[in-house]
Amino acid sequence: YLIVIFLTYISRLMPTLGNPNPWTNLLPAKLQTLQVANRLRDDPDAIKLASTDYGNIVREIPAAVLYPSSVNDIASLIKFAHTSSTPFTIAARGQGHSVRGQAMARNGVVVDMTSLKNHRNGYGITVSWSPSMGFYADVGGEQLWVDVLHATLEHGLAPVSWTDYLYITVGGTLSNAGIGGQTFRYGPQISNVYEMDVINGKGDFVTCSPQKNTKLFHAVLGGLGQFGIIARARIVLEPSPKRVKWVRMLYNDFSAFARDQEHLVSINGRKQKNALDYLEGLLLMDQGPPDNWRSSFFPLSDHSRIIALVTKYGIIYCLEVAKFYDDRSINSVDKELQNMFEGMSFIPGYKFEKDISYVDFLNRVRSGELKLQSQGLWDVPHPWLNLFVPKSQISDFNSGVFKDIVFNRNITTGPVLVYPLNRSKWDDRMSAVVPDEDVFYTIGFLHSSGFDDWKALDVLNKEILLFCYNAGIEVKQYLPKYYRTKEEWKKHFGKKWRTFQERKYQFDPKMILSPGQRIFNDN
Ligand code: FAD
Repeated sequence: YLIVIFLTYISRLMPTLGNPNPWTNLLPAKLQTLQVANRLRDDPDAIKLASTDYGNIVREIPAAVLYPSSVNDIASLIKFAHTSSTPFTIAARGQGHSVRGQAMARNGVVVDMTSLKNHRNGYGITVSWSPSMGFYADVGGEQLWVDVLHATLEHGLAPVSWTDYLYITVGGTLSNAGIGGQTFRYGPQISNVYEMDVINGKGDFVTCSPQKNTKLFHAVLGGLGQFGIIARARIVLEPSPKRVKWVRMLYNDFSAFARDQEHLVSINGRKQKNALDYLEGLLLMDQGPPDNWRSSFFPLSDHSRIIALVTKYGIIYCLEVAKFYDDRSINSVDKELQNMFEGMSFIPGYKFEKDISYVDFLNRVRSGELKLQSQGLWDVPHPWLNLFVPKSQISDFNSGVFKDIVFNRNITTGPVLVYPLNRSKWDDRMSAVVPDEDVFYTIGFLHSSGFDDWKALDVLNKEILLFCYNAGIEVKQYLPKYYRTKEEWKKHFGKKWRTFQERKYQFDPKMILSPGQRIFNDN
């Protein structure tokens, strides 16, 4: 791979020796007359980073990488591309934690959003209050959620909806949806945004909200980077709790597991006291340790009896919930949880509890990441598959996919997540696509592989998709990766396709932005 990058670089350099900006071979020469040209790089380090992502499967070599010193740099680059007689593609790259080249731009320009962090002079995250909105944070699209957490906690506040992993950018998750254990109650992260500054595909800087430039606002949220680059988002904040009661319960019967999950997510009012603050679920299938890199939870002394359970039943379903508390609720939290768990059908004796700080809970994946990094196992291929499955078909999915395909294939897949979400918490005017049922499940096959064997997992993913297709299970892909044709994208968006396409023509008519999603660009 390094040899390919090196040869590509050399081959570009050869005809342009003496030319200080070799990228002009691929981009219009006139770009050199703009000031923003000084912030473009095409040295091997820049190109290498921008042509890889967390997935470690796809490589697309850009002509150059923009390291913006301000959002104006981004706007002038996009404006130039838009007005040029030979437009080129541009992709914002947040943390590059997508898995199939979604943040790449072959022969175009990748915008390294994180470069903005060095130029915002500490103004990348500010906390304010207004009578109509209450507390909110204005956050640069390049900011990592972990930094948003720490900055807002200084004010005793925090966002309400989180992803499981915090080292990804605000712009990157808002382009998808941003889901996790709080989504059943607070909605995805896209449902918790008051306002945004966006640079659209014509290079215009636009402030949008549910009241102002509404179309752009709704288009960008869940819009897969197609309509504009998020320069700033105004995020809903609430008083932050201090600690967390974190509970896992084990089931051998899928219908009991799903029934209990669905009951718990049905109590979901934002202010409702007897609602949980977090709910997810996962499969225990491998007969190795029951913990994985996503979180270390089970007491070591219980590992052997949990492994014995997995050996006995093949698949164990693990329901994971949390209730947040602070000094005021410290005496009532246990009782509240006890009441919520009444009548639940987990295997007696297989309920486990932990009490940890709010920050450690939200940032629970980080220690696993650091461990994998130290073993050189973080940067392996990740052929992930993320799906939304309608509630009415989840039982067929369990028997056809979990039991017949995944379990029988007998390959180590990594964590498999399964938990229900409420459609009422999603705003249908936004670009994000979910199944057409009040409750649907999110399924995450978070596969990691060795460098040579990711294809077996890719085959497994395709088999799962084919099974769903043949069985008539109406899945929608989250963080979509397996659509290749316009027809597949049309089917994915369903009744939203027309609007999605019209918005593209309106906000990015030259099809400049986020080509790596392969919706409007073939490369
Ligand atoms: P990138 O990969 O850099 O970009 C993704 C897409 O967004 C690209 O199309 C890019 O062009 C576009 N984009 C990036 N920045 C902007 C911007 N400022 N404006 C407009 N478009 C932009 N997702 C969840 O929902 N829940 C989870 O719990 C979760 N856990 C994860 C755990 C791990 C370990 C990893 C690797 C990913 C996880 N994800 C999760 C997926 C993650 O939310 C998406 O991959 C997200 O896009 C990553 O953000 P990023 O900053 O790396 O984006």
